[in-house]
Amino acid sequence: MTTTFNHSVAEITRQIAGEVVAPLAFEIDREKRFPHEAFKAFGKSGLLGLLVPKDLGGMGGSLFDLVTATEIIAEKCGSTAMCFLMHSCATMVIASKASPNQKERYLRPIAQGDKIGTLAFSETGTGAHFYSPEIRAHFADQFFTLNGRKSFVTNGDQTDFLVVVTNASTEGNGLDMLIVETDTSGVRFEGTWEGIGLRGNNSISVTMENVKVPVSNLIGDEGDGLDIIFQVVAPTFILGVSGVNVGLARGAYLAALNHAKSRKYPDGRSLAEIQAIQFYLSDMYGSVESAAAFVHKAARSADQGEAAAVLNVMESKIIASEHAVRVTNLAMQVCGGQGYTPSLPVERYLRDARAGAVMAPTTEVLKEWVGKSVAGIPLM
Ligand SMILES: Cc1cc2nc3c(=O)[nH]c(=O)nc-3n(C[C@H](O)[C@H](O)[C@H](O)COP(=O)(O)OP(=O)(O)OC[C@H]3O[C@@H](n4cnc5c(N)ncnc54)[C@H](O)[C@@H]3O)c2cc1C
Repeated sequence: MTTTFNHSVAEITRQIAGEVVAPLAFEIDREKRFPHEAFKAFGKSGLLGLLVPKDLGGMGGSLFDLVTATEIIAEKCGSTAMCFLMHSCATMVIASKASPNQKERYLRPIAQGDKIGTLAFSETGTGAHFYSPEIRAHFADQFFTLNGRKSFVTNGDQTDFLVVVTNASTEGNGLDMLIVETDTSGVRFEGTWEGIGLRGNNSISVTMENVKVPVSNLIGDEGDGLDIIFQVVAPTFILGVSGVNVGLARGAYLAALNHAKSRKYPDGRSLAEIQAIQFYLSDMYGSVESAAAFVHKAARSADQGEAAAVLNVMESKIIASEHAVRVTNLAMQVCGGQGYTPSLPVERYLRDARAGAVMAPTTEVLKEWVGKSVAGIPLM
């Protein structure tokens, strides 16, 4: 196991993205399969432990590092970037309040590339409002007992553990975050991911039937769940998924630019010499770079704990997901009928980019929160 901490996050990610992620992107989408090869490389390089503190063998990365990584991976493969992001979110939740036992049992193995996790928050009933789960944990004899179902669990049955949000066992005490090991009796994954895009993200359902979780797997104190959602999960997921969407937009723009320069008509003219196509290229370039600049600014402000960070973070997902849909759509226009087929990757980028706005917190929910924030109205 070699961990190359002397290289920057961008350099390590770029190398893996170029050598491992890009060559398999088409296959992962077509076969709807989990990106095993990329995860092996992320583990070997130390990237699976990007958000694990350095004293536990991790990279001790920042939110800006996470955005950098998700952006670079998504430029090559959205599915792989989404899988990496959800693992990183689960890591960050544990790291935020890890007990000595959780540090050794989860964070150190994650840093060594030996454990993969994810967030199991969504439920069919509560949908976009994942912060109000219906699933309830009952506590007795030092164990929580979980019964219920979580949907859209990215990484699904490829994980070693889930971070599950549930109603606290003590009446009226808010939400709890529990680490559930996926080989625990009563944990059962179901179905296959059939979404139009991110086809390799293995986002499936998990049913928990009398699943016994030791009290040592409670993250933080009982009732800390809501705080963790807003202080830890929200900035990590929102910035990470914004990075994914910037990466998808850039990948589509570069694919369209390459096609515009290389596609020649019988008279020798290229697509890029046509003024309408030049306008589209200009639009895409501006869209990608302005979305990237905003997301980077939001990540830096969150890392520095600036007062405007919350507003910038919320707005970054709105901007990045809207720009990703716009740019991938323009990329298809530039590439014409050829872009509508899998002979070019733009149709994959377009399908992948459509997920950003519907993943919670959705664009509608975020716009309401941003609007309230700027108007000085409380969010809840
Ligand atoms: C590719 C993918 C991967 C995912 N991975 C994970 C994962 O790893 N873990 C996880 O826990 N979840 C995951 N999710 C789930 C996701 O975050 C959402 O929880 C889920 O998509 C909600 O879907 P729904 O159809 O129930 O939405 P609904 O709640 O039915 O929403 C439908 C529409 O109504 C709008 N709406 C709802 N309420 C309001 C309101 N109050 N104001 C304004 N508009 C509103 C929404 O914005 C949305 O446009 C994933 C989803 C996708 C697509």
